[in-house]
Amino acid sequence: MTTNKKRIDKLPPEFRTWLEERVTQVDACWEWRLSLKDGTQPQGKFNGNVINVRRVIVEACTGKPIPRGWIAACLCSHPGCVHPSHLFKQSRSQAFKGAEFSPIHKVNLAKAARRRAILTIDDVRAIRASEKTVRQTAADFGISESHAGGVIRGRFWRDYENPFAGLMRAAS
Ligand SMILES: [Zn+2]
Repeated sequence: MTTNKKRIDKLPPEFRTWLEERVTQVDACWEWRLSLKDGTQPQGKFNGNVINVRRVIVEACTGKPIPRGWIAACLCSHPGCVHPSHLFKQSRSQAFKGAEFSPIHKVNLAKAARRRAILTIDDVRAIRASEKTVRQTAADFGISESHAGGVIRGRFWRDYENPFAGLMRAAS
């Protein structure tokens, strides 16, 4: 397919090689083999930076940053597909209306949004400094015990970091 090829050819060669080493071709799709953030978003480390793989691909193919309130979505229903020709930008409200999100998935997205909304960086610091039990700390902040535990162990720390902070540090 010439149109597909053109789109792939817009990827910077270094990024294209990096991507091709991390996908498995399944029919017409490129299945991401590494981690999926929130169970859906292919995520990887490129040049030391954790990136949303679909977003970077859409931005590289279109040559334009995805605006605020828009996401990189996938046309096909193949989980974790990152084929450049299957990705497009979609407004967040359209995405939430879309049939591709199951009820469970919507609940998880809402939970993730709530977690981010409730805790500030200061909260995270307070939770980590607290000498109370995980159960008490969770109750104090109105979050689940597993989430409080994740915050204490640092598992969720990156949720509160600006992703571009890493890019800035790497560049300086
Ligand atoms: Zn696909």
